[in-house]
Amino acid sequence: MGAILFIVIAMLAAFLPRNCEELKSPVKATNSSQEDIIPSVSRRLPENIQPIHYDLQIDARLSDWTFNGLVTILVKVKKSTNRIILHSVNQTIKSVAVTGHKEATFTVDQTLQQLKIELNSKLETSKTYNLTIEYESVISSGLDGFYQSTFTDKGKKFRLATTQMEPNGARRAFPCFDEPAFKATFTISIIHDKKYTAISNMPGTTASLKHNREKTTFSKTVKMSTYLVAFVVFENFGFVQTTTGKHNNISVRVYAPSFEVNKTHFALNTTREIIKHYEKLFGIEFPLPKSDMIAIPDFSAGAMENWGLITYRRTAILYDEKTSSGRDKQWVSIVIAHELAHQWFGNLVTMKWWNDLWLNEGFASFVEFLGSDAVNPELRTLEQFYTETQSGALQADALANSHPIDVQVNDGAEIGELFDSISYNKGSSILYMLYTAMTPKKFKKGLGQYLKDFAYSNAETKDLWGKLENTTNIPVAKMMNTWVKKKGFPVVMVKKIGDRKLSLTQERFFVSQNERRKYKDDDYTWIIPITYKTNIDKGMQLMYPKKDFTINLQKGTEWYKVNVNQTGFYRVNYDDAGWNSIINLLERNHTSLNPSDRAGLISDSFELSRAGLEKISRFLNLTKYLKKEKSYVPWKIATLNLNYVTSMLKDNPEIYAALTNHTRELIKDTLKSLRSNSKTSEENHLKKSLNATLISTALAMGDNETIQEALDNYRKNRNSTSNIDSSIRGLVYSIYVKTGCRAEWEEIFDKFKKEKDPTEIRRLLLSLTDTKDAELLKKLLKMSIESKIIRKQDGYMVVKEILQTHAGHDLAWNFIKRNWKTIVKTWSDKAYSRIFKASASLKSNEYDLQEMKFFVQSILGNKPRPRAVKQSLEEVERNIEWKKRIKRELSELFLKL
Ligand SMILES: [Zn+2]
Repeated sequence: MGAILFIVIAMLAAFLPRNCEELKSPVKATNSSQEDIIPSVSRRLPENIQPIHYDLQIDARLSDWTFNGLVTILVKVKKSTNRIILHSVNQTIKSVAVTGHKEATFTVDQTLQQLKIELNSKLETSKTYNLTIEYESVISSGLDGFYQSTFTDKGKKFRLATTQMEPNGARRAFPCFDEPAFKATFTISIIHDKKYTAISNMPGTTASLKHNREKTTFSKTVKMSTYLVAFVVFENFGFVQTTTGKHNNISVRVYAPSFEVNKTHFALNTTREIIKHYEKLFGIEFPLPKSDMIAIPDFSAGAMENWGLITYRRTAILYDEKTSSGRDKQWVSIVIAHELAHQWFGNLVTMKWWNDLWLNEGFASFVEFLGSDAVNPELRTLEQFYTETQSGALQADALANSHPIDVQVNDGAEIGELFDSISYNKGSSILYMLYTAMTPKKFKKGLGQYLKDFAYSNAETKDLWGKLENTTNIPVAKMMNTWVKKKGFPVVMVKKIGDRKLSLTQERFFVSQNERRKYKDDDYTWIIPITYKTNIDKGMQLMYPKKDFTINLQKGTEWYKVNVNQTGFYRVNYDDAGWNSIINLLERNHTSLNPSDRAGLISDSFELSRAGLEKISRFLNLTKYLKKEKSYVPWKIATLNLNYVTSMLKDNPEIYAALTNHTRELIKDTLKSLRSNSKTSEENHLKKSLNATLISTALAMGDNETIQEALDNYRKNRNSTSNIDSSIRGLVYSIYVKTGCRAEWEEIFDKFKKEKDPTEIRRLLLSLTDTKDAELLKKLLKMSIESKIIRKQDGYMVVKEILQTHAGHDLAWNFIKRNWKTIVKTWSDKAYSRIFKASASLKSNEYDLQEMKFFVQSILGNKPRPRAVKQSLEEVERNIEWKKRIKRELSELFLKL
């Protein structure tokens, strides 16, 4: 599913078990001697019936948001049985028939989401049968299955109906064998009013019916999993088109509501070039005759890789030079590269079961950087891998409540929880580490073989390791098992022995000292591809658990940096001599290390101080060199850390003042040089990103000059805000709201209500959360769950943003507590990851922790805690522990106590 970080960190799905619905029909008493008795209590389907082909007809009535369905599934019997079990949710089943059987009775188990069909005689082994089901249902008002969406153009409201099947929405649209290993072909037809157009995974032809109706029938698909089925019914859309592929015979179309088709050209060009690039990279041609992309006005995640019909949130596909910033453009480029990578990795070769979800998502989250870099090199995406992906994964995986990449999952709720930073970002980080250790050439060769050998089939993690291992002398499976089977990652301690030797040891990294003590006897060790660089040479060696590991230094070595380019998924700590040589180097000549290395050193020194393995003074000493830093990537990491530490200590006025002063001083010169348009090492996109990052930090640190400048900028351009540079426009709106009163907020709110462009809508909406007026915040919170003025897809962003402001945190938290039932109903199980994690960010005292625990107990009782809840509570504990220590250290430093 669609991508990643920023917006999509928010997409991290953590589903509540869908077992709160009442059992509508009793499960029939069955003969316990039958071989398939177990599935009546299992969410997994028995394997004795295999679907081969689906003929699916949907008669969609958008006028009243209902539909009728008729599905005929050709099944093959692997083991004789008189029972068929498949998935179905929220459907009224009208009739069930199986060829050759006069009597077929059925029951629906809403808890297990299963339709159980009993036959009066057995289905015979190796024979095929047609199973036909007639049913009715509603086009859902949620954001999965077959669901509703609307948009307004020139004052008129238009309806569309679209699908989101991953991970288990297909069973909401039609009865099916809804597990990824049950691959089959599909012939889909949609009946709709003449004014609508229907599109699906394959090209379609339309025939007229009576009563102003039409039937669009689509060609038979290739063999694929149910979660990749898609169809969209719409009116008043337009498209742009081109062709691509080795033979230039694959049609590419990008669809959008008519009024914004002019924003689809960047997506069209990117798609055309990325498909060509991937055909070469994977050595396999794109297998479908077309690849459609469509902007959907209401969309839960970032995008969805449905084979041949990729669906997108509008901000992830539309790009308008006048409105969107370079970072918006980068986002579009990355999301498209991600979804197209899935067309091979995920769609052509699919994970056997959801425990290997990371194979899909980790891979696409890594290859998106290669794809985006290849076709839009000016965006320099791969250079930003550390800030965009890896640093977030390292943070998430430092929690005791993290999970291994490869994890056992049984049901719908657990599947949803897996769409998180570990599957996406740690998954992609360890693949990047392997790619570097093996060399890109060997990695690509093994990958191509894997895709060829498992095409139109399913695979497990070990299958990928096997194919990669054939191309290299690295023990891939043995090494990678230490990274995917365990949670967490190591910190590597580097000690200098004598003049010419480094001794390295490893232990699991915890950001909390309490957790480290708790787990100290656990045998957590990794096979680590150690890379190093000195002023003389560089190298790579595998570090095995429990074996002495040394690096020999050449004569004349002045400094050494372990984890070159930060491609390894580990942190590094040095002894005093090591850190001092690096700090000297940064002060003398920081560009002898590349931006990712500099970012990695900043990040490691900060996180080591949080973990109690180093003092915060190390981080503050190391970051002194930033006065000369002109690159985005190290600044991004440094400002994130500085913002975090100041935000945590806001309740201590003396330290807070000292820290904000310190940060303002640090960023002053670079910000000034950007203002005067003098040269930096980076041009355009990253230079603007750096400028926006520093302005944002200056505003957060209360820098009066920057605040005044932003306000002047707004006042000068309030009637034509497109004159404000798009990279800082959001910040300008925020500070206008933050420093203003009700009138200023209403002014931005009016703009928000009138705005049509999705990127600008997002900017305006988020800036509204910066008001300090409690009444306005209450109004905003109320709108966020009403799904009227604020779209259902955006509401959680508002709650999340307010939770993360000092002015609004308590108010938003109380609102959540009062409205929890509505919140869960609105964002379903995703509410836990979306809301709880944001709640934890500013909570840092014992009262907050106990109060949060009390609330969790009141809503969940004795039910198991979703992982996001456990992680959030751990975050708060970690904040408390760290804050006590850091206060002491900073008092000594700044207040000379
Ligand atoms: Zn994905």
